[in-house]
Amino acid sequence: MASETIEVDYLVIGAGAMGMAFADIVLTESDKTVLIVDMHQKPGGHWNDAYPFVTLHQPSAYYGVSSKELSKGIVDSIGLNKGLQDLASGPEIMAYFDEVMRYQFLPSGRVTYLPMCKYEGDGKISALTSDKTYQVKAREKIVDATWLKTTVPSTHVPNFEVADGVKFMPLNDLPKVMDQPSRYVIVGGGKTGIDAVVWLLENHVDPDQIHWVRPRDAWLMRRENTQPDSQFFEATMGAQAAQMEAIATSESIADMFDRIEAAGIFTRIDPDVRPNMFHGATISDPELAELRRVKNVIRNGRISRIEPDKIIFENGDVLDSDPDTLFVDCSACAVGNSEETTVFQGDTIYLQTVRTVQPVFSAAFIAHIELTRDTEEEKNRLCQVVPLPNHDTDWIRMHNAFMMNQYNWSQEKDLRKWLLDNRLDGYSQLAASIEEHETEKIAIMKRLRDNAVPSVMKLQQYLAEIA
Ligand SMILES: Cc1cc2nc3c(=O)[nH]c(=O)nc-3n(C[C@H](O)[C@H](O)[C@H](O)COP(=O)(O)OP(=O)(O)OC[C@H]3O[C@@H](n4cnc5c(N)ncnc54)[C@H](O)[C@@H]3O)c2cc1C
Repeated sequence: MASETIEVDYLVIGAGAMGMAFADIVLTESDKTVLIVDMHQKPGGHWNDAYPFVTLHQPSAYYGVSSKELSKGIVDSIGLNKGLQDLASGPEIMAYFDEVMRYQFLPSGRVTYLPMCKYEGDGKISALTSDKTYQVKAREKIVDATWLKTTVPSTHVPNFEVADGVKFMPLNDLPKVMDQPSRYVIVGGGKTGIDAVVWLLENHVDPDQIHWVRPRDAWLMRRENTQPDSQFFEATMGAQAAQMEAIATSESIADMFDRIEAAGIFTRIDPDVRPNMFHGATISDPELAELRRVKNVIRNGRISRIEPDKIIFENGDVLDSDPDTLFVDCSACAVGNSEETTVFQGDTIYLQTVRTVQPVFSAAFIAHIELTRDTEEEKNRLCQVVPLPNHDTDWIRMHNAFMMNQYNWSQEKDLRKWLLDNRLDGYSQLAASIEEHETEKIAIMKRLRDNAVPSVMKLQQYLAEIA
């Protein structure tokens, strides 16, 4: 079959949330054309492979593409997110991206969408379903929206062995369990592990029947502090101010984390175990209370092999098991690639986070900078990578980079306006919503400003210590 040649302005590799958010800005802020290629059959990236009970862990209000609201505009009145802004479910996110593609992108006449196709490099695209190929010439840039290599349990290969005869499944299959096992062993202490445990507890499983392999404990962010709506101003902006104060007044790295926790910003599942991981997950207080009901926590480090009658750990520890135990894989690390690279490199843009754990905002922002700034140097100056964290101390690098970007953006009038107008940036609107008579809110903003420079200096000091 002959290869078809296509010429476009931007070739976006990946129709995940980041590729979609980038394309959306190109379409709304320019008259350029875009080709989006993806191996999945629907836009949404890893949400295609998500477990049936997944939801966002941050409010829908600042997820998705800039031009279309995802939130229902409600505060949940039931469930473990009660009292907080709505969180879209996996199916809702999939339907949302499908609508963006079918009702906005494609009718614009400026988007070519090639699902079920693989980008091979050098402009070559191959269909997964036939021997059809395309050769794409990108007049402007190639946009790599695959750099972060998000991984999820249903598609990843665990980094430990599982012997024949062991009952083992990704959490995706939990709703299919029909034969009650002797116990459930949840493998992984991150966000998916949390979701699996909460799901089991919500579905009639006794906490004592759950055993939880948590090689590391994580600092978690209290979700009530991440609500971009004026009714949550004190919680959200107050937490920002308190965090700034905690950093500025801290006397050591450990003291800084203690103060951030004492201020009600970070939390942890087990008050007796000091976390050494930070992945940016948010949690509600009722979810936390549920998780604390599980007492069988296995802290022998990482598993190296599971056999029907034992669990073998990398450190040599061996724990007894039985063939009727069901192991639930929650060990995929959402970020498969923690390597950083410069965002703008010649004819390629590598989409990464330029704001703390905000991939979709970041993709939209990078698109705006691509369209409005002239030189590569200037574009990269405004799009310094805010690294995705893994260890607790990575939070320091991340927060420092975040504050530097915020400062640089605040110096440019047009960017201040863009941030204010963009729905993916909930915080600028919150800060701008203050009226003259709202003295308490004004006081919060003053605390924030007063502690900005001292906290940056403290972060720089800690960075030098951990270098
Ligand atoms: C369970 C879970 C919950 C999350 N919750 C939140 C949240 O609440 N808030 C938040 O901000 N983030 C959240 N995240 C982070 C999430 O990773 C990002 O929000 C975002 O969805 C990542 O999108 P992406 O486009 O970078 O990657 P992906 O979704 O992985 O998309 C990349 C796409 O590229 C395609 N692709 C790769 N290589 C090729 C190739 N060679 N040719 C063609 N196509 C290719 C893949 O098929 C894929 O569809 C969550 C992540 C997980 C796993």
